[in-house]
Amino acid sequence: MRVRFCPSPTGLPHVGLIRTVLFNWAYARHNGGKLVFRIEDTDAARDSEESYLQLLDALRWLEIDWDEGVEVGGPHEPYRQSQRHDIYREVLDKLIDSGAVYESYSTAEEIDARNEANGRAKQLGYDNFDRDLTVEQKTAFRAEGREPAWRLRVPDEDLTYVDLIRGEVTFPGGSFPDFVIVRAGGVPLYPFVNPVDDAVMGITHVIRGEDLMPSTARQLALYSALVEAGVTTFIPRFAHMPLVLGETGNKKLSKRDPKADLFLQREKGFIHEGLLNYLSLLGWSIGPDRDVFSLDELIAAFDIADVNPNPARFDQRKAESINGDHIRMLEPADFAARIVYYLHVAGLVDETPTPEQQAVIEASAPLVQERVQVLGDVPDMLGFLFRDEVAYHEDALASLPANTSEVLVASVAALALVPDTEFTAAAVQDALSRALIEGLELKPRVAYTPLRVALSGRRVSPPLFESMELLGKAESLRRLGALVE
Ligand code: GLU
Repeated sequence: MRVRFCPSPTGLPHVGLIRTVLFNWAYARHNGGKLVFRIEDTDAARDSEESYLQLLDALRWLEIDWDEGVEVGGPHEPYRQSQRHDIYREVLDKLIDSGAVYESYSTAEEIDARNEANGRAKQLGYDNFDRDLTVEQKTAFRAEGREPAWRLRVPDEDLTYVDLIRGEVTFPGGSFPDFVIVRAGGVPLYPFVNPVDDAVMGITHVIRGEDLMPSTARQLALYSALVEAGVTTFIPRFAHMPLVLGETGNKKLSKRDPKADLFLQREKGFIHEGLLNYLSLLGWSIGPDRDVFSLDELIAAFDIADVNPNPARFDQRKAESINGDHIRMLEPADFAARIVYYLHVAGLVDETPTPEQQAVIEASAPLVQERVQVLGDVPDMLGFLFRDEVAYHEDALASLPANTSEVLVASVAALALVPDTEFTAAAVQDALSRALIEGLELKPRVAYTPLRVALSGRRVSPPLFESMELLGKAESLRRLGALVE
């Protein structure tokens, strides 16, 4: 079993593309097959090296590996279409020999003029006029200095195949004309090189987006010709995955939608396990009422035949909630390591944290691992532990109760009695609860809001008593005092 991921390197990696590689990867891993990673860089005007490097970055971050292809090599090198022109020329020669393709000299203007003269709709395009040119006609065209394109002779019968997701699909005969596979001048086109590479590379299953289904008809026609010409012995099976819709309406999720941007989602703080879990749900399900599972479970359960052909909707909130569940499954040390990047970007720690910063990271990470959905939320929650100055949020100040000063003064007095060496979360809680809940007879919410704001500047902070233990006695008292009046 051999599947492939064959993106065109244009633009930033988007979630639709990642779902495509994910399903191919999961299918290959489930079946002990091979995943081939090929680059379809046939459009020099749109392709870029930058985009190629971003694809590599994306797959490496996602920890999706491939068995053959760019970077890793394999028996079908090179794996970039821009470097495979000799192969395409050879295959073209075989198709010429077998009679599957023919020289075509018609220009667009000539096709239009003939259609008009024959009362044939312009949209029908090419009229297969050059199919049966005589040797004399061809010679005459050449004498005019014309160079031919090569067109595939498309059979007139219906084309039928069984889509692994959609069942039987039939393209009625005559729905498209003989099409150009190699332009005049020798440039091979996408409808040619994509199936040729699949054939030459022995791809057994073509798994891709529904948007590519219209090209399947042409590819089936070409495939038959490739089999006949001895380029390959079989036609791969096809599976077309459902469209991914945006959050509202019935429009496809735009590649330009920020939610579709893989790197923006990474910056937001998705971990790859959570994002892949969510993306696998775009058309597939592991079972009723079950949304959260590991990549190993995904591989164990995945079958392309179980993919639902109906459009799937991208749901950012659900994606984040699943990501949060995966964050909770991380080993604490792993979580602490993964938040460093986000703390650094927020300017809270060095790129390689100092030993003091590292100690605070490790001590405070467990306070937020239970609470965040995306790692990008961590700096906001933990920032107060790394900064000397507390930045008070507007809404936090607005939420302070009238007796704030009284609460803070009582707290300072109570905490001052806790010995420096015993300033633990438990001791802090004990002292505060005696002073505020029992002493002043306050409800916990009223009692602790001023303390949260004083320590973190925020209304919602990680657990209060643990935060105080981390800040230490002197710093905690200093911050509580700073907010009095
Ligand atoms: N290079 C094509 C694309 O990026 C892939 C087509 C295919 O999967 O067959 O759209």
